[in-house]
Formats: sequence, C-alpha cells, structure tokens
Amino acid sequence: MGGYLIDSGWINLAYVVAAILFINGLKGLTHPRTAVRGNLISSVGMLLAVVVALLANGLDYTLIIVGAVVGGLIGAIAAVRVKMTQMPEMVALFNGFGGGASVLVAGAAFLIAREPNAQMTISTGLSGLIGAVTFTGSLLAFGKLAGFITGKAVGFPGHKIFNALLGLGALGCVVWLTVDPAATEAYWIIVAMAAVLGVTLTLPIGGADMPVVISLLNSYSGLAAAATGFVLMNNVLIIAGSLVGASGIILTRIMCVAMNRSLTNVLFGTLGPSADGPSADDVYAGKVKSTSPEEVAMLFDTAQRVVVVPGYGLAVAQAQHVVRDLANILESRGITVEFGIHPVAGRMPGHMNVLLAEADVPYDRLLEMDDVNREMEQVDVCLVVGANDVVNPSARTDPQSPIAGMPIINVDKAHTVVVVKRSLSPGFAGIPNPLFAMDNCLMMFGDGKKALTELVTALKEG
Ligand code: NDP
Repeated sequence: MGGYLIDSGWINLAYVVAAILFINGLKGLTHPRTAVRGNLISSVGMLLAVVVALLANGLDYTLIIVGAVVGGLIGAIAAVRVKMTQMPEMVALFNGFGGGASVLVAGAAFLIAREPNAQMTISTGLSGLIGAVTFTGSLLAFGKLAGFITGKAVGFPGHKIFNALLGLGALGCVVWLTVDPAATEAYWIIVAMAAVLGVTLTLPIGGADMPVVISLLNSYSGLAAAATGFVLMNNVLIIAGSLVGASGIILTRIMCVAMNRSLTNVLFGTLGPSADGPSADDVYAGKVKSTSPEEVAMLFDTAQRVVVVPGYGLAVAQAQHVVRDLANILESRGITVEFGIHPVAGRMPGHMNVLLAEADVPYDRLLEMDDVNREMEQVDVCLVVGANDVVNPSARTDPQSPIAGMPIINVDKAHTVVVVKRSLSPGFAGIPNPLFAMDNCLMMFGDGKKALTELVTALKEG
C-alpha cells in the first residue's frame, strides 16, 4: 500500500485500537448476555480499521465508493430478506466471498509489485491457495445447505490420495513462485488447483457433519485474509484475519467434539459410515402413536419435571415465544421446566440459544447436552419441538448410521417423550428416527407454533 495521508504512527495506533476493539468484541461474543454489545464493539473496530486503511495515498475513491454502495446495498437487502434459518447458507457465502477477495487482492498486489521479496511471494501463494479452497468449498457448502446439491456425503474412489496430490502440487507451485517470482503463471496454477481441492475436500462431507465444514471454511477465510495482510503489509488485516482463523479453528474443534468426529478426518475429507440404513417403512410401520394437545395437557397433570428439547423446526415455526408461554404455565403449576440444548441443534452454532434468548427464556433454564443427559431418567415428560437428528438414538445404537457416534440428547430415556413435528419426514441427515416408533414416544403432528398454541389453550381450559 502506498504512503498514507496521515502519519504512519497514527495509522498504527488506530490499528492497535481497532485490534483491542476486535478482541474485546470477541470476548463479549462468548456469552449471550454480552453478545450484542460484543458485536457492536467489533463493528466499531472494523469501521475504524476501514476508515484508516482508506487514508492511504493514491487510492481511486470513485471505484471504492461505487463498490461500497453496491456491496452495502446487497448486504442490507440480504440482512433484511434472509431468514434466521437461512443464516448458515449466508455465512457460507460470506466465507466464500472472503476467500475469493483474498485471491484477487493478493494476486493483484503481487502482479503490480516491481520486486516482490520472499515474504510477499510466499504469502501471495498461500493466500491464493487458502483463498481458492475457501471460495469453491464455501460455494459447494452453500449449495448443499440450500438444497441445490445433495446434502449427502459424496465420495469417489481414491479421493484422499487425489486430495493429497492436489494439495502437494499446489504447495509445490508456492515453492516455484518463491524461487521464481517472475513466473506469475504459477500463481494462477495454484489458484486453479486449490479451486478443485475446495470442491473435492467438501464433497465427501455431508449430512450432519456440515456444521463442522462451515466453521472450518470460516477459519480458512480468516487465514487467507491474514496471508493477504502479509502481502499488503497491512497490520490490521493480519490481526483481523488471524482472529477469524483462530476463533474459527476453536469453533471447529468444539463442533468436532460435539459431533464426535476427529478434526483430521474432517480436514482430509474422510467419510463417516455411509451405508444406507433401514428404510422409513421398516422403522415406522404400524409402530407410531399419535396424540392430541388435549392428551398431552393431561400428561402434564401428573408431571413434576419437564424437559423441552428444541431443534431446527422450532426456528422454522418461530415457536420460541409460545414455548416460553407453555413453560411459564407449567412452572406456575409447580412443574420444573428446563431446556436441553444440543450444540448442533438448528442450522448454526448457538441457534437455539439465540431463539430462546429472543423469547426471554432465562439462561439458567438452558442445560447443556451432558447435564441434561445425566438427569434424563428422572424426567417425566420430554417435549421435543422440531428436533430430529439431535435426538436420534440410532447415533448410539447403529454403527452403520451416517450419524453413528454423534452424541445426542437421550430423550428416549425419559418416562414419556412427546415429539412435535409436522410429519415423519427426516431431519437434515436424511435418515429415519427410531425414536418415533418407541413405546414411550407420542407424536403430536402439526406445525410447531400451532401445535404448542393448541397445547397452551388445552392447558388453560383443562
Ligand atoms: P433436524 O434438521 O434434524 O430436524 C428438524 C425437524 O424439524 C424436521 O424433521 C422437520 O420435520 C421439523 N420441522 C420443520 N419445520 C417444522 C415446523 N414448522 N414445525 C414443527 N416441526 C418442523 O434438526 P435438529 O435441530 O434436530 O438437528 C440439526 C441438524 O442440522 C443436524 O443434523 C446438524 O448436524 C445439522 N446442521 C447443524 C448446523 C449447526 O451449526 N447447528 C449447521 C448445518 C447443519 P417435519 O418436516 O416433519 O415437520
């Protein structure tokens, strides 16, 4: 970047302030109570960083303003239009664009540099590699989440060796570029190979493992930005990119632990068990019992302890307010009501926490999976609202299941389970759920909001 319109000492001081704001913002994001403030603090940091970066000499502000207006408009429309349940798709797209931007910015800076040194050349190569993997990998993940492409894991024979060779080839080209910075074609070969690698790494991951891929790609977009920061020698981009890269990898680890998957398996695109399991007919035929809101209201008459397990369907139905009303009524009758939160319930990390916080459900009522599982045998009624994969006992019992080994909330161990959903349709992983056919399980079919509203009415009238 050229000389600055203001003294570089002030610029760097502003970058340090921005970095402090980012770190404080991230700290705020670790708890729902401080998350909104944390987001705001980080945004102020980013605004400061962008304004100060724009003070560099020789910039064409017309192009920058046009870009900011067009990008800002698209962002604003997306923010208003995109539903909460579509957030993961949007995050996947954003990650992808971040990676794509790194490829273009680093490539452009490298091409106009007169005598690139080794640091610039290596960082350009890495930016192209990680950025292109992020770009195509994220677009594919977007397609899978949005349902344009099959959400299932798709492998091909020898895909691990193919990926390893492609990755090594791309790294080899980074070395080639470093040895001979004049060979600019090496950069585009790196980008092309990495673009294919993004696809072949993401294709074999599917079903319930998608959250891990999204957070991993998020981390990659940060690493690509940090590498671009080294190309441009822009301190704040290095810091912001590293923060995204590090927090993304921490989140990926948390998700891996939650899904009982190893990070290396996800990194190298190793498939989980993928055999086709039993058909829905085999699992459900003649065994599913349906119930009505009136019957469920009667069940609560004798209950002392109720656990609500929310899932993606709660978000689709927007039933968070009525579920809170239901909890309030039950509590006013002396029943203990708690919420069991699975780490990957919904379609984004913390999805259920956000929804329930929106409906003012107190945080101390939200129990983590391990805590709620420890007590499940003492629970009289477990009310599952729009959850499916995260309560599917085949994760525990069927080693061939695509979700084998994934920890679940053991709702089947409660005395009685009531499942609220519209039909017997599968969840995100696309597999039947033997829970629905168990002796202690009753299905209350219907849209989450409508069914719970009827339940609240039945309780009030009963
Ligand atoms: P699932 O996707 O397994 O199941 C959701 C269920 O909600 C469906 O079976 C559907 O059944 C029901 N549903 C949909 N709309 C409504 C409605 N209006 N009213 C009532 N029910 C409704 O959700 P879970 O939360 O159990 O599991 C999350 C899954 O998503 C996991 O496989 C996870 O790996 C994956 N995932 C999670 C991400 C994350 O970060 N949390 C990101 C990406 C994927 P029906 O149609 O019969 O109503």
